[in-house]
Amino acid sequence: MTDTSISFMRSLCGGRIEQDVLFPFPTLDPAQAEVLSAVVDSIDSLLESRDEDFRKWDVAGELPAEFIDELKEFGLFGLIIPEEHGGMAFGNMAYSRTLQQIARHDASVAVTIGAHSSIGMRGLKLFGTPEQKSKWYDRLASGEMIAAFCLTEPGAGSDAASVKTVAEDKGDHFLLNGSKLWITNGGLADFFTVFAKTGPQDTRGKLSALIVTKDMPGVSIGTHEDKMGLRASSTTSVFFEDVKVPKENLLGPLHGGFKVAMNILNSGRSGVGGGAVGGMKKLIALSAHHAMERKQFGKSIGEFGLIKQKIGHMVVDCYATEAAVTVIAALSDRGYEDYSVEAAIVKIFSSEALWRTADEALQTSGGTGYMRELPYERILRDCRINRIWEGTNDVLRLFIALTALNDIGQGLREMESSLKGIFDHPIKGFGVLYDYARKRASWATGYSSRSNSLSRAHVALRPQAELFEDTVRSLAAMADRVLRKHGKKIIEKQFALRRISDVMIDLFMLACVLSRVTAAIEKNGLDACKRELQIAQVFAGQVQRRSASNFRKIDENDDELIKALAENTYETGGYTWDIL
Ligand SMILES: Cc1cc2nc3c(=O)[nH]c(=O)nc-3n(C[C@H](O)[C@H](O)[C@H](O)COP(=O)(O)OP(=O)(O)OC[C@H]3O[C@@H](n4cnc5c(N)ncnc54)[C@H](O)[C@@H]3O)c2cc1C
Repeated sequence: MTDTSISFMRSLCGGRIEQDVLFPFPTLDPAQAEVLSAVVDSIDSLLESRDEDFRKWDVAGELPAEFIDELKEFGLFGLIIPEEHGGMAFGNMAYSRTLQQIARHDASVAVTIGAHSSIGMRGLKLFGTPEQKSKWYDRLASGEMIAAFCLTEPGAGSDAASVKTVAEDKGDHFLLNGSKLWITNGGLADFFTVFAKTGPQDTRGKLSALIVTKDMPGVSIGTHEDKMGLRASSTTSVFFEDVKVPKENLLGPLHGGFKVAMNILNSGRSGVGGGAVGGMKKLIALSAHHAMERKQFGKSIGEFGLIKQKIGHMVVDCYATEAAVTVIAALSDRGYEDYSVEAAIVKIFSSEALWRTADEALQTSGGTGYMRELPYERILRDCRINRIWEGTNDVLRLFIALTALNDIGQGLREMESSLKGIFDHPIKGFGVLYDYARKRASWATGYSSRSNSLSRAHVALRPQAELFEDTVRSLAAMADRVLRKHGKKIIEKQFALRRISDVMIDLFMLACVLSRVTAAIEKNGLDACKRELQIAQVFAGQVQRRSASNFRKIDENDDELIKALAENTYETGGYTWDIL
């Protein structure tokens, strides 16, 4: 029986390679695959002739109401809602694949659908009572109600626990006062998942999640934000003034809102990842076409090495992202309890891979890429937000590394007292005691067992699997060394935390690639998978070089010099050298 309490990455940091979490590579059940395939085809027929409209709506900064009605009629607001309430009952794998297909056509449309299902109403799905679900599911599925997720405030961005919006307990209702900033779908939504302080005013945290509807007196919406990208998607402030929210609208436990918010974001991350894969597939097709068509120096630019280098890397990035998005979507569908580190990794890797791809696709296109007539510049603008929202990639990197170090620190008995309390921080992980010290000893003696090998990777991938195993050992040694060196101060060593996090990101991504290629070889045979083998080889080579650099820089770095330069710049107020 599957043990759904296991986290692949948190086990990895504790010295165990729980390969059964990632192998075999997940597939959709045939019935859902058939439905999905029909949905994907219909999305293409709905959106494919709309390129010129998407360009116009980006300039106008709005999706027309008639087009949103078409999305409703198509059922796109009901993707994750049960069939008995008029939805499509998609799990995260099918949901993320659907968002991928929408994002191939336009990111603003994908975000309008995604903000509704990935975050706006996901709290209802994850934490709603049967009464709450039966009250709202039908209207959310039909799009009669569009949903939005309201966490961010002017003073509470990355530090989400510091929200100032207050929900005062008034017996049979909460009295809600405050405002929320940059809410996706704000101008379209009727259903808001709102996070407000329910604990004492002078404490941090103690948030609760509340369902607020637009028809409640005291709810008002700000003006449409004029944004860099995703211009046609609605982003507004949302204001609450003495809004009476009935007690039955509490979502999840009282004061448990921070956990509700984190669970929503984790569960919704396969949506962001799916959208990124859609964007990358579109860019790869555009770039390959341009590379073959455009002639310079008497030949197609695609024949030049530097163009091949860009396109080859795009393909590797896309394959790796798709593998990892599929894995975390499946972890969620199979009921794994803690995949927060894996989901954060996917958010980081997918948003950065899409950004690299958009940048290189525009470069491949040369000056035409800079023209608004073609979609490159719009995609570049649209995708930039993915590195910022739903937890900035910087803060998520800290979360990944600190979660691992917390687990390891707790496993190192001799470190326990000196580490006590250091993770008492909003980006903290939740500690699980692992038998780390014992594992460390077994690794140091070179003892190898199934629990610390990636034996399920296909034999043709043994060199890459060995690289994975070696890097895991080096990561454990590095984490151990960093903890011993810095003790409590590790929380302030963000340069080191970033390096640990980057190695962890690479390890998870590599494991997902190896799982995917293994499944392909087992299904289609080695000869048919020559290209996928090449992808695995390239990706493993990248991981090897990046990890070696990260390990080396833990001890040999110019971190203190860089910090001194930044601090000097704060003092002087800017760059102080001029050649004049
Ligand atoms: C278009 C758009 C749509 C959005 N949609 C929604 C939505 O639907 N719902 C919602 O609730 N929010 C939404 N947001 C808000 C978004 O989630 C936040 O912008 C994001 O969480 C970052 O917060 P911030 O902008 O306040 O940045 P800040 O928290 O001020 O961060 C600024 C910089 O400081 C860095 N930083 C912060 N803390 C640390 C630290 N401890 N260590 C190192 N570096 C740090 C960050 O990484 C970042 O680089 C949206 C934003 C935009 C722009």
